[in-house]
Amino acid sequence: MKPVDNFTRIGEENAFTVLARAATLAAQGMDVINLGIGQPDFPTPPNIVEAAVKALRDGHHGYTPATGIPQLREAVAADLHRRFATDTNPDHVLIVPGGKVTMFTAILMFGEPGADILYPDPGFPIYRSMIEFTGARPIPIPIREENAFAFSADETLSLITPETRLIILNSPANPCGGVTPRAEIDKLVAGLANHPDIAILSDEIYDQMLYDGEEHVSLLTYPDIRDRLILLNGWSKTYAMTGWRLGYSVWPEEIFDKARKLAVNAWSCVNAPAQWAALEALTGPQDAVTEMVAEFDTRRKLTVELLNTLPGVSCITPKGAFYAFPNITGTGWKAKPLAAELLEKTGVATIGGPDFGVLGEGYIRLSYANSQENIRRALERMREFLSR
Ligand code: PLP
Repeated sequence: MKPVDNFTRIGEENAFTVLARAATLAAQGMDVINLGIGQPDFPTPPNIVEAAVKALRDGHHGYTPATGIPQLREAVAADLHRRFATDTNPDHVLIVPGGKVTMFTAILMFGEPGADILYPDPGFPIYRSMIEFTGARPIPIPIREENAFAFSADETLSLITPETRLIILNSPANPCGGVTPRAEIDKLVAGLANHPDIAILSDEIYDQMLYDGEEHVSLLTYPDIRDRLILLNGWSKTYAMTGWRLGYSVWPEEIFDKARKLAVNAWSCVNAPAQWAALEALTGPQDAVTEMVAEFDTRRKLTVELLNTLPGVSCITPKGAFYAFPNITGTGWKAKPLAAELLEKTGVATIGGPDFGVLGEGYIRLSYANSQENIRRALERMREFLSR
C-alpha cells in the first residue's frame, strides 16, 4: 500500500497516550492520580444532559443541516453578543464536532507546501501536527515564562514572512495557563494592519476560565480583523462536555462556504441531540459554570502553592485555563523522563513539556481539574519522589 506522504508527518496528542497508560496501570491495581488529561472532572450539568435526553425522546434522530441547527447558531451569536458586546451573523457560525475540528479545518484551508503558519510553542500539539500534515512550514511563536506565558506582539510580528498565511493564537492558553494582556493584543492587531492577507485563527476555548479578575479579550472585538478572523470555541471545557464532541467556529464570510463544504464531505453534521444539549448550555442557567470556575480557582492556588514547596521546582501563578506549568530545571531531570517516572513509580500522571513543543523542555504540565484531595496526594508523592 502507498498512503500519501502527509501521513508520515502527522503527529498526535501525547495526553491521550498518557491517559491510556494511566488506565492500564489503574487496571493493574495501581492507585493512579490523573493530572495529565485536560478535561473538567465534573459531570455535565444535569439540565444539559436532560436536554439531550429530551431531544432523543422528541425524535431528533436524523441529520441536521451541515452547519448546525439554526437555533444553536443563533444562540452562539447571542452568547457572543452577551459576553463581548460584538455582533456576529449566525450565518457565519459553524457547529462542529469538537474544538479540534476548527483548527483542523482552518489549517487544511491555509496550509500547503510553500506556506508558513505561525503557532504558539509551547502550545496545543495538534497545531503543529496539522501544519506539518499539510506540508506548510511550522513557525513557532515562543511562549516564555519571563513573559508570564503570554505571547509577545513584537516577537509574533517579527516572525511574519512573505509566505505567512495563517497565525494561530491561544489565550487563555494550554499548556501554560498564560493570558495575553489587552495591550499586547491591541499592539498585535495594529501590526497586522500591515499584513492584510494573513488569516488569524484565535483559539478561545478557555475563554471563561480566568482568575484574579482577568477579563477575556476576544479577537472578535477588533473590527479591523473581522474579515480574516476564524474564532475557535466550544462547549468541552466551559460546560464539562469533552466527550460530547461539540464545538463551534465563526468564519469570515469569504471562506465560510469552504468550511461548510468540508463539513459536508467529512462529518455531515454534529450529533443532533448533542446540539440540543449545547443550546440548553448556552441559554439555560450559568451557575454551574461559575461554580466550576470558582473551584478551579481554589485548586489553582493550592497546586501552585504546593508546587513551589517541591525541591527544584518553581511555578508562576497561571491566570487562565486549568493548567500549571512548573519549571523543573532545578530537579536535574529532563521533562519527559520525569513525567514518565512519576507515572510509573508514583502513579501521578502529568505531561512532559516537550509534548507541547521544543520550548516546553524544562517544564511539565499539571492539569488541576482534579479534586483538592487528589492534588494534595499527588503533590505529596511528587515531593517524596523528588527528595529521593
Ligand atoms: N484548543 C485547545 C487550546 C485545547 O486545549 C483543546 C483541548 O484540550 C482544544 C482546542 C480541543 O477541544 P475539543 O476537546 O473540544 O476538541
